[in-house]
Amino acid sequence: MPKVVIIKCDSYDHSRVLDSLKRGIDLLGGISALFSPGEKILIKPNILAGDHPDKNVTTHPAVLAGLADIFQGNDYLLSYGDSPGFGSLKRAAERAGIKRVFDDRGIEAGDFETIVNVSFQEGVILKNIPLAKGVTSSDAIISVSKMKAHGFTRITGAVKNQFGCLPGLIKGEFHVKMPDIIDFSKVLHDINNLVKPRLFIMDGIIAMEGNGPRGGNNIKMNTLLFSTDPIALDMVFCKLVDLNPEFVPTMRSCTNEDLMVYTHDDIELAGDKIDDLINSKFNVTRKKFERFASAGSFPTFLKNLISPKPVIDYNTCKNCGKCVLQCPTDPKSLNWVDAGDFPYPVYDYKSCIRCYCCQEMCPHNSISIKTPLLGKLIRR
Ligand code: SF4
Ligand code: SF4
Repeated sequence: MPKVVIIKCDSYDHSRVLDSLKRGIDLLGGISALFSPGEKILIKPNILAGDHPDKNVTTHPAVLAGLADIFQGNDYLLSYGDSPGFGSLKRAAERAGIKRVFDDRGIEAGDFETIVNVSFQEGVILKNIPLAKGVTSSDAIISVSKMKAHGFTRITGAVKNQFGCLPGLIKGEFHVKMPDIIDFSKVLHDINNLVKPRLFIMDGIIAMEGNGPRGGNNIKMNTLLFSTDPIALDMVFCKLVDLNPEFVPTMRSCTNEDLMVYTHDDIELAGDKIDDLINSKFNVTRKKFERFASAGSFPTFLKNLISPKPVIDYNTCKNCGKCVLQCPTDPKSLNWVDAGDFPYPVYDYKSCIRCYCCQEMCPHNSISIKTPLLGKLIRR
């Protein structure tokens, strides 16, 4: 039975976080049950973008500092890394306050530029997975995700955190190759089954609700979660925010998407009482995910009439172009108009695959996911 430890922690104060981390790891069996002395351990935070820690886009530096302090007292060789949405790991980590934490402790960034292709015949979708060298050169991974709402996958947590084990531009290519949300979820499972982090920790002290994973609002959830199973951990995240896990594609089986991997009864809970930490008002999309790419033989114009789509709010758009850079289709489904003086990017919904990378990376919360009126009526 998979186990998830819930620890109440209501501040990023170092000693409070350190004590909470120690307690959570001990309740899972302790460090020595999970890691052997001398192992090279990669700490894998969520460093989606170089945003200030107060925005809660990334794993909070205080959690990483506490974790580093716990593991540095033992005989391990630590590194850290993630593949940000754009730009270099070091630059994003610096802006997110993460690089300083590791620099102060003499812990170096792993190589997240070099691609190492790894054969994975057990993969359901991927038989060959291009990983960052910083991942393949480690003996073990600690995945330290951030508790956030997500427009495409409903939540971004423990399972999705391993998408960052793929280097930079490769991630966009996967969205193009696997536009269907269920296929994409199976890809996430394949990556998890290959890299198999030994320990999953989720920073939910202050989480992000609403238009996540970058443009949402802060919300105190006062929680750190611990598990050796990412699906079980995300199930508990769902329970904390009162979200039906059936709406989350990554909670479904890799081999039969009609089946859930777990029910809540399958998961052993330890630590603090979950009932005291549940927030039913957490703003997250509480409806079943849409399978845009695999909507049968529907012509694209019909799909566009009913399916959710990313929409730019031109009142807040700052014309920075990050969304255009991020769009993985060729030609781009979001671009500057060729003629005229309209200074903002414009969508071509005919070619848009609904990967929502543009929404994910907009630094000004100017892109949201909207369902057309006809789609809303059909849903009702
Ligand atoms: S990323 Fe956001 S702010 Fe920048 S151009 Fe696109 S919509 Fe506008
Ligand atoms: S426009 Fe946005 S949602 Fe559409 S393919 Fe490009 S990045 Fe993905």
